[in-house]
Amino acid sequence: MTTHQIVLIPGDGIGPEVAAATTRVLKAAGAPLEWIEHHAGVAALQSAGEVLPEQTLDAIRERHIALKGPCTTPVGTGFTSVNVQLRKRLDLYAAVRPVRNLPGIPTRFQNVDLVVIRENTEGLYSGIENVVTKGVVTSLKVATEHASRRIARWAFHYARERGRKKITVMHKANIMKLTDGMFIRCAREIREQDGFTDIDYDEVIIDAGCMRLVQDPTQFDILLLENLYGDVLSDLCAGFVGGLGVIPGANIGDEYSVFEAVHGSAPDIAGKGIANPLALLMSAVMMLNHIADTRHDESCRDSAARIRQAYNQALSDGQKTRDLGGNLGTEQFASALIDRLGG
Ligand code: NAD
Repeated sequence: MTTHQIVLIPGDGIGPEVAAATTRVLKAAGAPLEWIEHHAGVAALQSAGEVLPEQTLDAIRERHIALKGPCTTPVGTGFTSVNVQLRKRLDLYAAVRPVRNLPGIPTRFQNVDLVVIRENTEGLYSGIENVVTKGVVTSLKVATEHASRRIARWAFHYARERGRKKITVMHKANIMKLTDGMFIRCAREIREQDGFTDIDYDEVIIDAGCMRLVQDPTQFDILLLENLYGDVLSDLCAGFVGGLGVIPGANIGDEYSVFEAVHGSAPDIAGKGIANPLALLMSAVMMLNHIADTRHDESCRDSAARIRQAYNQALSDGQKTRDLGGNLGTEQFASALIDRLGG
């Protein structure tokens, strides 16, 4: 049996807690993985003097895949976001975040089954900010045709492979005519030029789109968004299905992939043993399916299916962490899943 070497970045705050629970479940499910642990974030600043050590990047370049816990980024001042750096340095241009109802988690809407696809490398995350004069600052929103076309192409391919029916681009091209204007033009062109006209497509101005989303999220299928809108709408959509504890994510490029939950390091609950490890575990399930697809290792797909069945069963049985209205701690929840892994 092949064992896949995966870089594990535990991260900051609740990161090490949810990473430990996740790797325990993966091991119990027989996932053929070997962890190569490296650090990023505040943890790396303390041990290596920088938030994103070259060693961590090199390790991902060598193994191609990483599972990453959240990393803290100081607000207002201090170092550049590790996450933004990582996505840029490894050219992880597509963030994909599935948002689905889970059994045993009552929410306002049923049958939510959305995928948020976010352009991950440019927009306002270019981090180009200037002081023009005292009291006047600017932040530059960068859009390139190259990045706009490749994320659109990635989204249409994803839709086709997964049998999805429709892509909706949310934008503000009525105001940002050049940047968002180019984003929607590229999506439209890729659909026509690359032969994706069988997939329905529409464009919605994002403010009205947010209202439509909160009125009825089931009317949407795939949301294709530039960087900042994708960040904001991922968390908004998390609220439809139980919160940040249940939204997994993948950052995918042509060569490397980093799987991580949408949530952050949750400093308010770090060290208390109560964080929900499910979002990171679900990200690991996405990772196993990705390995199965790209390396043709069906044992990874089997482990993924067993873990998915186990968490669906645990949630149906009312075995939940506090963010979902239960009373289990991080490790107790992991044990409840392990008890439900079929043979
Ligand atoms: P957050 O996602 O860390 O927390 C928001 C709220 O959700 C908090 O109340 C938190 O307790 C709760 N929460 C989040 N994950 C949870 C889980 N697994 N189980 C239970 N409750 C959970 O967002 P924030 O507070 O805005 O950010 C904290 C730090 O995380 C910041 O430094 C931010 O930059 C960083 N961050 C990192 C990433 C990443 O590494 N990918 C993503 C988002 C935020």
